[in-house]
Amino acid sequence: MSEGMKAAKATPADVDEMRDFLFKLEEMVSDLEEYDAGDIGDFCYAHFSAQCGRHFQRVLFGYDTLVDNACDPTLSHLDWKPEIEEAITAFQQLHAPDGAFCAHSWAYPPEVCPACNKPVPFNPRRR
Ligand SMILES: [Zn+2]
Repeated sequence: MSEGMKAAKATPADVDEMRDFLFKLEEMVSDLEEYDAGDIGDFCYAHFSAQCGRHFQRVLFGYDTLVDNACDPTLSHLDWKPEIEEAITAFQQLHAPDGAFCAHSWAYPPEVCPACNKPVPFNPRRR
């Protein structure tokens, strides 16, 4: 992590305010029989700065930083970088009771061994 980017953390309250603002905005934009462009403009003018404007950069930059530092860039979904997953698995194995993991040999390991039904230790080739 020492070489990765660092970003200020958005507080849970920052995220909640931004979420509330965006949910309300989504509701207004989705229901144009109930709300017109003037209502939406008035709402944005009154609430954007307090509920979203102070937070969205920290929330989005924090998300980008976390993903860049911790997530596998080759996947389209969120998952640990292989070296982080290996470290977690190594830690779990170190602290697991004897026999908690499958001891069979696998060329292309599944996540769970069909023979003994125990988790197979992590191997990057599983992907
Ligand atoms: Zn097994």
